[in-house]
Amino acid sequence: TSNPIRRLVLGNWKMHGSLAGNGQLLAALRTGWHQTSDAASCDVGVCVPFPYLAQVESALTGSDVAWGAQDVSVHEQGAYTGEVSAAMLADFGCRYVLAGHSERRMLHGETSDTVAGKARAALAAGLTPVVCVGETLEQREAGQTLGVIRGQLEPVLALGAGSVSRLVLAYEPVWAIGTGLTATPGQAQEVHAAIRAALAAIGCAGVRVLYGGSVKAANAAALFAMPDIDGGLIGGASLVAEEFLRIAEAG
Ligand code: PGA
Repeated sequence: TSNPIRRLVLGNWKMHGSLAGNGQLLAALRTGWHQTSDAASCDVGVCVPFPYLAQVESALTGSDVAWGAQDVSVHEQGAYTGEVSAAMLADFGCRYVLAGHSERRMLHGETSDTVAGKARAALAAGLTPVVCVGETLEQREAGQTLGVIRGQLEPVLALGAGSVSRLVLAYEPVWAIGTGLTATPGQAQEVHAAIRAALAAIGCAGVRVLYGGSVKAANAAALFAMPDIDGGLIGGASLVAEEFLRIAEAG
């Protein structure tokens, strides 16, 4: 491929899993995924519920599959009942943490400023935040897509090029998440190109921009073939080892 950016395929288990079921899935990923050093290979990881981080660390240490969490506190420590700090995630070997998934934005009122704060906290602990952005169907139909994305990115880009160059972005149109309605490669590419331009404007080349929203083995290759799509954030399809591994192979 002509894309010089190393791809990343990241699973987002959301609130799914159990000790017994995870054991099987993790074992299948461990034996099924072997990264090669050649440029055609991609990075692979899974973002899991907090209680399973110890299990995942023990199951994946020494494998080619990285892991992470789905949310992080903006705070370092203190009286924040129910919150989990970036340092705690680092304690369990996390490489990645999602910030601002649309389900957090919609169901938990996370603003773009909060999301930027989470990205900053993650970076400070040596984690790679995966900052998610995306428009609703209503916003798309009103022609507001690029403006919405720009607004969501603004406080993140304001962290500065030194920070932004160390994070990952994920474009996830809300209408495509868990609906089976994948964005067409062309629809996704249009937004990815705009994100790439916004990154270039602050001097950041090489930042990975993932696509998420009903990615499956059957559509992954066509999406990843687009010039500004650098991998995927995979929800439902990351719960089935075979399917997730096939998506990783397309990466
Ligand atoms: P989906 O979820 O692949 O199940 O659509 C993607 C996501 O929410 O990250």
